[in-house]
Amino acid sequence: MEETERLAQLILESKRIIVFTGAGVSTESGIPDFRSPGGIWSRYDPEDFTIQRFLSSRETRRTHWKMYAETGIFTKAEPNPAHYATASLHHWGKLDCVITQNIDNLHQKAGVPDDRVLELHGNMQWVVCTGCRGRTPLPEVLQRVTDGAEAPDCPDCRGILKPDVVFFGEMLPEDTLARAVSRSQMCDLFIVIGSTLMVYPAAYMPTYALSGGAKLAIVNLTPTPLDHEAEVVIRGKAGEMMPAVMERVKLGRSSDFR
Ligand code: NAD
Repeated sequence: MEETERLAQLILESKRIIVFTGAGVSTESGIPDFRSPGGIWSRYDPEDFTIQRFLSSRETRRTHWKMYAETGIFTKAEPNPAHYATASLHHWGKLDCVITQNIDNLHQKAGVPDDRVLELHGNMQWVVCTGCRGRTPLPEVLQRVTDGAEAPDCPDCRGILKPDVVFFGEMLPEDTLARAVSRSQMCDLFIVIGSTLMVYPAAYMPTYALSGGAKLAIVNLTPTPLDHEAEVVIRGKAGEMMPAVMERVKLGRSSDFR
C-alpha cells in the first residue's frame, strides 16, 4: 500500500490525533529551518541563538533585529498546504492538538484555534522586556528598527528587548510542556511533520505517545531517529504530501475506502 494511503487510513481509524511540527513544516512558507542546506545554521552562528550570547552581545541583538526587519519572515509568512491539512483535521473533529516547536504562528493563521496549539518554544508575534517583563507586538518593535534603532531597548525601563521565544539555554514554558506530555500520552495517532526529532525535550513527545499506545507517523524530508518505530514514514515535502493524504482521507470519509 502506498504510504500516503496508509497514513490516510490511520487518520480515518483515529479519534485523538496529535500533529507535532518542527521547522520543516514551514520551509515551504519561506521560513528556513536550522539544519537543512541553506538553513539558518549555514548563514548565522548557532551561538547567536543562545540566551547567553543574545543578552551579553549588543552586536548579536543587532543581527537578530536586522534579520527580522529585513526579511519580514515572521510578519509576512503565510501558511502552506501542510498547515491547512492540519487545520482540516481540526475541522473534522479529529485533532486533539498541535504541538509545535515553531514560533511562526502559522498553525493559528491556517485556522487551528489558539487553545489547540501548544507552542513549546513560544511565539515570535510578541517581544518581551527582560527587565520589566512588558510585552509589545513584534511589528511595533520592527518599526523602531526600520526607523533606525539597531538594537531597540524597552521604552519604559531601558531593559533588553527579546523575542518572546525560547532561546537555546532557556527553560521551556512549564505549563505548556506539562500539557504536551499528558496530551501525547493520551492520543491514538501522533503525526510528526518536518522535524529532525533532535531538539529536546520537544523530541521526547513522540516517545510519550508510543508508550501510551499511540501509532506514530512521520512526514519528513530526511531520516529521523524514530523512523524505525513508525507505522508509516513519508519521505517528501510536507506541503505536497499532506494534501495528498487529506485527499485520500476525504475519499475515505465519503466512501467505503476504509
Ligand atoms: P530542524 O531545522 O532541525 O529540522 C527540520 C526538519 O524538517 C529536517 O529534518 C528537514 O529535513 C525537514 N524538512 C525541511 N523542509 C521540509 C519540507 N518541506 N517537508 C518535510 N520536511 C522538511 O528543525 P526542528 O527539528 O524543528 O528544530 C529546530 C528548532 O528550530 C525548533 O526547535 C524551532 O523552535 C526552531 N525553528 C523554528 C522555525 C519556525 O518557527 N518556522 C524556523 C527555524 C527554526
